[in-house]
Amino acid sequence: MKLTILLFAAFCASAADLPHVTIIATGGTIAGVQKSSTSTTNYKDSELAVDALIDAVPEVKDLAQINGVQFSNIGSENMNTSLLLRLSKLVTTLISNGSAEGIVITHGTDTLEESAFFLDVTYDMSAPVAMVAAMRPSTALSADGPFNIYEAVALASSKTAINRGVMMTLNDRIGSAVYTTKTNTRSVDTFKAVEQGYLGVFNDKTPVFYYYPARAYKKPFFDISGVDSLPKVDILYGHIDSDVTLVNNSISNGAKGIVVACTGDGSLPTTWKEIAKYWTESGVPIMRSSRTGSSYVAPGKDNLTLGEYSYLNSGNYNPQKARILLQLVLNEFGGSNSSLVQKFFDPY
Ligand code: GLU
Repeated sequence: MKLTILLFAAFCASAADLPHVTIIATGGTIAGVQKSSTSTTNYKDSELAVDALIDAVPEVKDLAQINGVQFSNIGSENMNTSLLLRLSKLVTTLISNGSAEGIVITHGTDTLEESAFFLDVTYDMSAPVAMVAAMRPSTALSADGPFNIYEAVALASSKTAINRGVMMTLNDRIGSAVYTTKTNTRSVDTFKAVEQGYLGVFNDKTPVFYYYPARAYKKPFFDISGVDSLPKVDILYGHIDSDVTLVNNSISNGAKGIVVACTGDGSLPTTWKEIAKYWTESGVPIMRSSRTGSSYVAPGKDNLTLGEYSYLNSGNYNPQKARILLQLVLNEFGGSNSSLVQKFFDPY
């Protein structure tokens, strides 16, 4: 009897000692269902509620004291700036008021990297934030969601994950929010940072880090506590026959900045010389990025130079991350000082 009481007391003490981790559910395939267990397409994403996600992995309760929050239940293609502003504020509030020592955010894979990047540059605290997703719906044979959630909770509750910014974790890998991108429409091994690699891996439930999130850039931070909206920034796609007049359409539709996913290292047809003129006339900065998926765009392109006019380049950021950074920079500093805006995209 005495031994039972002692064991029970020891169990209670150790459970109460576990860190508090909040799982914020936003939707995606990880919460998806499909009638057939052998089909991983044409399922309904964003069906399961946060409690069902947690109940599917009772083992997380050995890692942390878990609290679930249903933030939204949407496919991540429906994520938007106003939700991201709210999500970032929620993360900061939960950490700063002591309700959580680590955060897990379940999300769709399609725009996971954008939300992760947005949070990374608007969250300034040391507690770990682990973004997690799945490529197979919850009903599939070998669904990847439950184990990914287990590893995300292990990451969010690990002391070794402190001060590493916002991370993305799937398929036993830990990726940086800044560099990691979705590279494959189907495979569970879709998230990669081609040039920079992973930050670490899991050895069972233990995150093993290779690197701190090294940055070629100074880590920007934007205080969005009083911000409810951000300027509209569009992405246009470069290709053979690409039409420069789309820039004008974008500007007349309210874009305050434009990122072009250019071919190669930022090349555009000579007909796009006009972009520099559009910028000067409209005050809307135009930034060259690359559709290739990795590495830098060239700072200047002779064939696009038009007198004193110039344009910005996205450095190492892919178009979708450059778009978010440009939104935040324009919101805080406006677009008239081009060298100030460019500084946020330049390596040290
Ligand atoms: N398109 C949906 C989303 O991004 C499902 C894809 C996924 O989560 O893998 O949320």
